[in-house]
Amino acid sequence: MPNRSSFVTDFPCVKLMHGPTPFEYLPNLTRHLDGPKVYVKRDDCTGLAMGGNKARQLEYYFGEARQKDCDTVLITGAVQSNFLRMTAAAAAKLGMACEIQHEDRVKGMDEHYQKSGNVLLDKILGAKIHTYPKGEDEAGADAALEKRAAKLRKEGKTPYVIHLGPDHPPLGALGYIDCAQEILDNARDAKVQLDAIVVPSGSAATHAGLLAGLRLIGSSMPVLGVCVRRDAKQQAERVATRTQEVFDMLYCRQRVAKSDVNVTDAVLAPGYGKFGKDVKEAIHMAARLEGLLVDPVYSGKTLAGLIHAIRKGVYKKGQSVCFIHTGGTPALWGYESQLSN
Ligand SMILES: *Cc1c(COP(=O)(O)O)cnc(C)c1O
Repeated sequence: MPNRSSFVTDFPCVKLMHGPTPFEYLPNLTRHLDGPKVYVKRDDCTGLAMGGNKARQLEYYFGEARQKDCDTVLITGAVQSNFLRMTAAAAAKLGMACEIQHEDRVKGMDEHYQKSGNVLLDKILGAKIHTYPKGEDEAGADAALEKRAAKLRKEGKTPYVIHLGPDHPPLGALGYIDCAQEILDNARDAKVQLDAIVVPSGSAATHAGLLAGLRLIGSSMPVLGVCVRRDAKQQAERVATRTQEVFDMLYCRQRVAKSDVNVTDAVLAPGYGKFGKDVKEAIHMAARLEGLLVDPVYSGKTLAGLIHAIRKGVYKKGQSVCFIHTGGTPALWGYESQLSN
């Protein structure tokens, strides 16, 4: 919680992250792509057990959990979820128990995926692990958590559930309202005139928070969301709904303009948690030109989406774009088989 936006000060919040995170120019990548100047917002450097965007989101979830005197936090996600790993870390730091639910979201994965990377860290961090057999059933996954929470309540515990599905307002998005101001401050300090911000769009908490945050402070900066889970049509609807929910949570009268919701699914195939040549190329480019590690599920896909847009001429020489590196690097070990050649 480096600099909280004045819009969110009514919400309880606990400090979990290092920040403000760095804002860096990527000169070699810029030269290589021969397009706009490319900057990166290093939200992989938020601390908290190897960092990532969830640190900003969890400051608000744990703020509420503490306010309600909860002692156990429950969350659901993919097997290699960074959210689960960082929730386990935050719970440990704040003296709470943590139960996480691994959904079978990515089919046909090997032992590295099932055991290494984030899964290893979940275990080291002491989380209790449950499994959920389906991968595309957000409501069902949330219901399973609720069932577990009910059992804990019977045992005298006070559980706090971080829901995944769209029936609950995206409290974590508030963390990206803070980040919106931070990026504008970073750019101003570096004397950079940004033309766009590129961000992964998954649950859309990050995308919605950033978009709402920018508009609330009067910035009309374009935001491009790179789809990591759903196609562009579904994701655009989700982002619009979530952004409106953020405005509503803050009791703002603001409405989401359709034209403001901008997503691309150009690099989504073959689907969530899987990746093609374009993403592997982005991972190698970042690593070999800038010594920067990005992951195959989120940050590498986002960079691949940006590279695709640059090659299509969406962003041109003379412009400046910033992509948010949301972390995810521990997942690299889960994809050892696909990345070691
Ligand atoms: C969860 C996650 C995202 C997606 O963020 P949402 O707020 O769910 O859209 C992006 N990058 C990383 C590394 C993540 O763990």
